[in-house]
Amino acid sequence: MIILVINCGSSSLKYQLINMKDDSVMAKGLVERIGLARGVLKYKSAAGLELEETTDIPDHSKAIELVLDALIAPGTGVLHSLSEITAIGHRVVHGGEKFAASTLIDDDVVAGIRACNDLAPLHNPANLLGIEACRQLMPDAPEVAVFDTSFHQSMPEKAYLYALPYELYEKYGVRRYGFHGTSHRFVAEEAAKLLGRPLGELKLITCHIGNGASLAAIVHGKVMDTSMGMTPLEGLIMGTRSGDLDPAIIQFIMQKEGKSIAEIDKMLNKESGVLGISGVSSDFRDLQSDAENGNHRCQLALDMFYYRVTKYIGAYAAAMGGVDAIVFTAGVGENSKQARAAICAPLGFMGVHLDEARNDVRGKNAIISAEDSPVQVLLVPTNEELMIALDTQALVSQNLT
Ligand code: ADP
Repeated sequence: MIILVINCGSSSLKYQLINMKDDSVMAKGLVERIGLARGVLKYKSAAGLELEETTDIPDHSKAIELVLDALIAPGTGVLHSLSEITAIGHRVVHGGEKFAASTLIDDDVVAGIRACNDLAPLHNPANLLGIEACRQLMPDAPEVAVFDTSFHQSMPEKAYLYALPYELYEKYGVRRYGFHGTSHRFVAEEAAKLLGRPLGELKLITCHIGNGASLAAIVHGKVMDTSMGMTPLEGLIMGTRSGDLDPAIIQFIMQKEGKSIAEIDKMLNKESGVLGISGVSSDFRDLQSDAENGNHRCQLALDMFYYRVTKYIGAYAAAMGGVDAIVFTAGVGENSKQARAAICAPLGFMGVHLDEARNDVRGKNAIISAEDSPVQVLLVPTNEELMIALDTQALVSQNLT
């Protein structure tokens, strides 16, 4: 079975074509500047054949048409015909309370995703444009929606509710939803394999720390709590997002600086986090190298980031009544031994002991804790596209039988 995975943003679209026989990527790439002048299609096959085309891409339909053309292009393409694509899997950011699992897409599902637009106004409408374009261009291929939020739907009320007037939850669905669910689920399943124990027996803390960052507390395969909230702004300090802060600060800054709500929203999402503290960069590699060269605010940004992750790990271990393993993933988690060491250093009291030599690893599955560490620490590279493809395969196969 061959599956096309689509991750559609408002002006860009990432894609991967995956052969489920061996989970291999046959081709991948992205389309940028959709709706703007001179859009760009980038394409690379597994054999390394590349294509780059600059042309007007007025909408998502045209973007997907270009991707499909690239997949069958003579010379560089990897398919003889589009009929070789069995199904299409879409990343959808917000499934609200309606979607607790991935689902085959029909008119009702499209309406359900649209009903969540209010909760993710920048993302869900773009995801829907990708879905609609595929439905038009490949009407015979089943489509599946895989939601960033659905893995977190197992959280209990006490974890997902905010202590606000309850009617706000009833009227508008104001609650914690959590994001990066596809990644947390993928690495939790991989971690169980690496540990040689059933996921259903384990208490895990998965740390997805990249430019966006979130933790999940996972008890026996079900999320008990996660650090992102109703939106991806809550929780950890991120590249440009503040994460947790006293909500009264918002009103204070609005008064002092005469800022509008839109300006505050931009500040909290785009100008804060490690960028805001360092004044230098949102990229952890820049921060690490400038900190090594003596830049205090870069070191401070890193220290604040690590400190917040450590605090959340402690909180989640307490919430779960213990933890068997801590799993690191995403850009920083997979690549930065300094970050993993700094985050784990204060956790010795609860049985977390990294092995320095084992921690000297990047981008591959590994156990990085000491042999006798009561809590194991793992590195598991995430693969959200493969998880989307696996869900798509499972739902399509069920439907065929
Ligand atoms: P997202 O998907 O949220 O955009 P990623 O998971 O790709 O983010 O992570 C991007 C982040 O990973 C960047 O801030 C980058 O600095 C960081 N990163 C990548 N490689 C390294 C490294 N070797 N050391 C430290 N940070 C790294």
